[in-house]
Amino acid sequence: MNFHILTLFPEMVMQGLSTSIIGKAIERGLISIEAVNIRDYTTDKHGKVDDYTYGGGAGMLMQAQPVYDAYQAVAGKISGEGIAKNKDENVNSRARVIYVTPQGRTFNQKMAKDFAKEKDLIFLCGHYEGIDERVLEEIVTDYVSIGDYVLTGGELPAMVMIDSISRLVPGVLHNEESATTESFHNDLLEYPQYSRPEVWMGKRVPEILLSGDHAKVDKWRLEQSIERTKRLRPDLYEKWKLRQE
Ligand code: SAM
Repeated sequence: MNFHILTLFPEMVMQGLSTSIIGKAIERGLISIEAVNIRDYTTDKHGKVDDYTYGGGAGMLMQAQPVYDAYQAVAGKISGEGIAKNKDENVNSRARVIYVTPQGRTFNQKMAKDFAKEKDLIFLCGHYEGIDERVLEEIVTDYVSIGDYVLTGGELPAMVMIDSISRLVPGVLHNEESATTESFHNDLLEYPQYSRPEVWMGKRVPEILLSGDHAKVDKWRLEQSIERTKRLRPDLYEKWKLRQE
């Protein structure tokens, strides 16, 4: 799976995504991540990529031209046909363009699973007051937020999404099972877990986990997941209950 990130701060995303499990997945060729500097595509002779907003208001806005040209370079490379003309051509080559924005649908595990099926994904990171609406209309296929708060730029949201999507790519997690027992799978939070020693600060690991009886352990874990979801995330619990019915 190939991630292409359109950003004004390529070093930030590359540094953030080159360590631990994601870094290893890159080394093993399971995923690739390229950060494309939008500034490299500006036609402004001073390298400017932002300007004042029409109608007034605080802050600067990223201009359409450099964003569009950076997108064209990436989409053209993906389709192998040079410069792509617009988003429809891009859709044909099946690369979705995700604009990370507080105005989008809130990212969740279900969306991560959906995105993980793609071969290429293009992330567009805004900065300052955001991006000129006209280029968004032209190239964006998905508007996605990481929550109802405002950050200074789209780099952290893109990194959050890429991390979560990458770990669903086959082979990235050594133990494939862990992604299917984790929180949000089947609308339940994960059960509590314990490691050595058996007793720590006077607290014992639940006896059942030492029993070696896998059926009993599975039953206990499911009960714990249900109880925990009901207590910590009643909204999720209601969803799960509805599905059981
Ligand atoms: N003026 C914009 C608004 O009110 O919707 C906010 C712009 S924000 C300061 C700058 C950039 O950060 C956005 O273009 C977006 O790419 C990114 N960003 C900020 N908060 C985000 C969030 N919660 N989820 C995803 N991206 C976010």
